[in-house]
Amino acid sequence: MPTTGEKPGIGRYVCLSCGQVVHLDDNDDTLPPCPRCNGTKFKKD
Ligand SMILES: [Zn+2]
Repeated sequence: MPTTGEKPGIGRYVCLSCGQVVHLDDNDDTLPPCPRCNGTKFKKD
């Protein structure tokens, strides 16, 4: 699963802990910690 610090590519990622959606709009973007709960595990939306 996509984790904070990885570069999983363009797309929408949903925090597994709280459901917050994070958008990455560039293939070089690094997945940040969840802005709401600081979670580090996501699934691709
Ligand atoms: Zn979260």
